[in-house]
Amino acid sequence: MKSAVPRALLRGARCGRLQLNNRFVSTTHVSHVHRSSLRTTSKLTSISPRLVQQHNQSRNLSTTARLRNEAVSEEDDYKRKWSTPLAKQLAAAIQLTGPVPLASYMRMCLTADIGGYYTGAIEKDRDQFGLKGDFVTSPEISQVFGELIGIWFVTEWLAQGKQSRGVELIEVGPGRGTLMDDVLRTIQNFPSMANSIDAIYMVEASPELRVAQKNLLCGEDAPMSESKVGYHSVCKYGGLPIVWTETIKSIPIVSEKMPFIVAHEFFDALPIHAFELVSVPASQSTSPPAETDKSSPSSKTSTSTLQWREMLVSPTPRGSTHESLKTPASQSRDTPVPDFQLTLAPSSTRHALYLPESSPRYRALKSSVGAGALLEVCPDASLYASDFSARIGGSPQHPKSKPSGAALILDYGPGDGTIPTNSLRGIRRHKRVSPFAEPGLTDLSADVDFAAIAEAAMRASEGVEVHGPVAQGDFLELMGIRERASVLAKKAAEKDGEEAGKNVDKAWKRLVDRGPNGMGKIYQAMAILPENEGRRRPVGFGGDVVV
Ligand code: SAH
Repeated sequence: MKSAVPRALLRGARCGRLQLNNRFVSTTHVSHVHRSSLRTTSKLTSISPRLVQQHNQSRNLSTTARLRNEAVSEEDDYKRKWSTPLAKQLAAAIQLTGPVPLASYMRMCLTADIGGYYTGAIEKDRDQFGLKGDFVTSPEISQVFGELIGIWFVTEWLAQGKQSRGVELIEVGPGRGTLMDDVLRTIQNFPSMANSIDAIYMVEASPELRVAQKNLLCGEDAPMSESKVGYHSVCKYGGLPIVWTETIKSIPIVSEKMPFIVAHEFFDALPIHAFELVSVPASQSTSPPAETDKSSPSSKTSTSTLQWREMLVSPTPRGSTHESLKTPASQSRDTPVPDFQLTLAPSSTRHALYLPESSPRYRALKSSVGAGALLEVCPDASLYASDFSARIGGSPQHPKSKPSGAALILDYGPGDGTIPTNSLRGIRRHKRVSPFAEPGLTDLSADVDFAAIAEAAMRASEGVEVHGPVAQGDFLELMGIRERASVLAKKAAEKDGEEAGKNVDKAWKRLVDRGPNGMGKIYQAMAILPENEGRRRPVGFGGDVVV
């Protein structure tokens, strides 16, 4: 069979696999233009030590009463200098409601209507990306990244029967629009697939980034109109309609459509809830799901039970310093003193009662780890994964006679099914900083729980299967990054000299670097595909091109 896709790009190796219910195919250990300075840091490669110290230190505070005492009084609030307008607003809200879940804090910091990191807080002359920004992402490092994702969609379109219409491209969290631009440019080389595309959807919370995406994909002069669904413009590639929405829920689910969805460094920006399992005397236990604590010595008398307690955010005491707060050595002290800190809820909160009970993986922590177990849960990640899955495989609300399409999720987080803990991090100007300093100006992110995404996807639809996660380095190598990049490097060297060729080389090698903090190792790729009993593996996950 002759492949319509250049073989060189798609040479793949066979690899080991593990199947769960025939639908979760985990594959491990598989064998341009230079865009961004190599001195810029990706969100993760600047980081490894986590928040443990911060959590530990905050656990010493034990009661709500104490937290409330430490929260600003109205007078204090007036006098105290908060590091950002959002910090002041958050402190005022906490004063009214008491400490808030970490997820609420994260959501406000990232996407609050006014002053969120992605919604207008950072200075007008810069955005989040590149040397002048806070971090750099793979599509901004090398064009090859987006090109290979475009090729991946082409291979899925070929393998799923080359549908001649009804294809939708959906990107969640598209940043500057660079990845979609590279994907679309690549797909133009496959006219039958390009002609099958009905529309492009971009899920974007940031008004500024939405405009940047429009300028790149449609041109600076292209008008943008508003409707009930979102914002509309026309793409420079093939005159395709592009629709911007704030959430994926606003994109209609139509069963004949073949959605190709990409999420790159989107899930890490979704708010997490954090919990710790504590041993409490049985007499104080009020919640039904508590179990006897067999791990603690005091449980010999069966007088203690295990309960999940939520990590809450409250203001730091007035007059705090980096020293008094013991800002971890891994975080820069060049920021103002953190306005907030994490504290453990003194009793069960609504989320603590149901989120840690929502998966067998979480429930197992009670017996496998016992008191002291930590847990992060991202309900929004499950919502997005369920939505992708329903679009591809159909669901009771949106039945689909023939599952079709694919989702590719690339992000950082454990590739081995471990549940993330202590993974919240703050980044500002390429430095790791406290996630509680300068809220709204600091980027916040957390490790992605790929196993939770797989679980949510499979729960949402009978019509899908999940492949991966595989390390980004493996995925890109299997997709043919070496071959594609060498062509680009040669062209760049011929056009702009040897140095330009070397830069192209450095850039792609950075994406596949498998060193301890290398992007090729830390970032993972996962795919959601139409259910096929694991018989056909996608390219990049150990499969070959099928036409
Ligand atoms: N994928 C891009 C950008 C990653 S940064 C790249 O790799 O370069 C995260 C992106 O997600 C930004 O575009 C940000 O505005 C968007 N975003 C973050 N939280 C969001 C939310 N809750 N809803 C919609 N978009 C969000």
